[in-house]
Amino acid sequence: MDNKLVVYNSLSRKKEEFKPINPPFVGLYVCGPTVYGDAHLGHARPAITFDLLFRYLKHQDYKVRYVRNITDVGHLENDADEGEDKIGKKARLEQLEPMEVVQHYTDRYHREMDKLNVQKPSIEPRASGHIIEQIELTKKIIENGFAYESNGSVYFDVEKYNKKYKYGILSGRVLEDLLSNTRELDGQSEKRNSLDFALWKKASPEHIMRWPSPWSDGFPGWHAECSAMGHKYLGDEFDIHGGGMDLLFPHHECEIAQNTASIGENSVKYWIHNNMITINGQKMGKSLGNFITIEDLFNGSNEVLEKAYSPMTIRFFILQAHYRSTLDFSNEALQAAEKGLARLLKGVETLNKLNVSDKGNYNATALKDKCYTDMNDDLNSPIVVAHLFDALKTINSIESGKENIDKSNLEILKETFNTFLFDILGIKNEESEGGNDEMLKDVVDMVLNLRLQAKSNKDYATSDFIRDELTKLGITVKDKKDGFDWEI
Ligand code: ZN
Repeated sequence: MDNKLVVYNSLSRKKEEFKPINPPFVGLYVCGPTVYGDAHLGHARPAITFDLLFRYLKHQDYKVRYVRNITDVGHLENDADEGEDKIGKKARLEQLEPMEVVQHYTDRYHREMDKLNVQKPSIEPRASGHIIEQIELTKKIIENGFAYESNGSVYFDVEKYNKKYKYGILSGRVLEDLLSNTRELDGQSEKRNSLDFALWKKASPEHIMRWPSPWSDGFPGWHAECSAMGHKYLGDEFDIHGGGMDLLFPHHECEIAQNTASIGENSVKYWIHNNMITINGQKMGKSLGNFITIEDLFNGSNEVLEKAYSPMTIRFFILQAHYRSTLDFSNEALQAAEKGLARLLKGVETLNKLNVSDKGNYNATALKDKCYTDMNDDLNSPIVVAHLFDALKTINSIESGKENIDKSNLEILKETFNTFLFDILGIKNEESEGGNDEMLKDVVDMVLNLRLQAKSNKDYATSDFIRDELTKLGITVKDKKDGFDWEI
């Protein structure tokens, strides 16, 4: 069995053995969502990909500090340096405080991640809570000569940086090509060069989210937060930085430039990126009319969807593709995943009921070794799933008496399913959870029947007490002529 985890590093563009800087500690930073709307499919994939990595590293006894940020300031429309703040715009349209928008969508994101069985990161810092750190980062870059102030804003000087270090090492883009592909600067621009990016932006009078700084009342540029927070929580140098492929350029490229310009090194040993999701072969986008939120998938409320899909179907579907492959969402593919997962879970049920023989011919260690070998090969979850499907055939033929298994191999087989399907792939059995729903329903019905009794005894104090307490728990009670109705 090959025990060594190998990961594909976007920086070296090859697979490398994973060797933490300071074992057993591992620092993992992943770019989280910008919370100005409901999480969509594009959010589900990085969350699940890095959850798989987080779980697997912990399974290998590493002590992982997983930082996944919340972007709540500075992310302007079109990922550009001009335009309205995404959260500020939503707040203006809905007549809310920006932080109300942030809280609302952060809560929803958390709820969806819980349903997808995505484990919570160790730290979930918000950009707006780290303005001082971002100002310090900007000061340092100015001090080192790689940024300049212009009309109250501060820009990173890409050309100057490129002369000393090389801009584009992550994306493989060459500065000269980038320059010839970008529009000429108009005379109005504050930038020396069109590729320069904002570290700090002076706020226009109508801009709500603003903080004082040495340069102006304003707000940090989008890329600054991840450099500042990665540095704060994981140090000058840390092991893994992850995110979706769409963030590789310019977001992560700019992060490398900021880190190098401020402390002289790129800071990150392994850059890991998950590939994108397409829908029926097309890119997902609001303008394309195929924009699916995670909530839509759970309740089937989107015309692209033929039905609702359970969170575990979504999770299993995502893990049935390698994280570096593109993944196409279609109703057929989701329904195939749904059936496949049901088959695996049925197999686990059968497995737990198998009888042992004194002598068996099945070697479960071989299965276990294969699962580790492929998980170690850059988290090859689809092949691990294929091994589990292979084992189903054996489980069924042992059940029907065609094959035998001895006690120790049965234990290894059970352990392999538990470890890989549940602990590492993070699948949970939703049917047994459904049992909890049933129980909740019975308990609420019972309490409301007691309330009816209290009412018929004219004990209105108890009746009101029960209704009020249920309301506090988020259960709305509606009285009806012939009884009651309730909903959560
Ligand atoms: Zn980021």
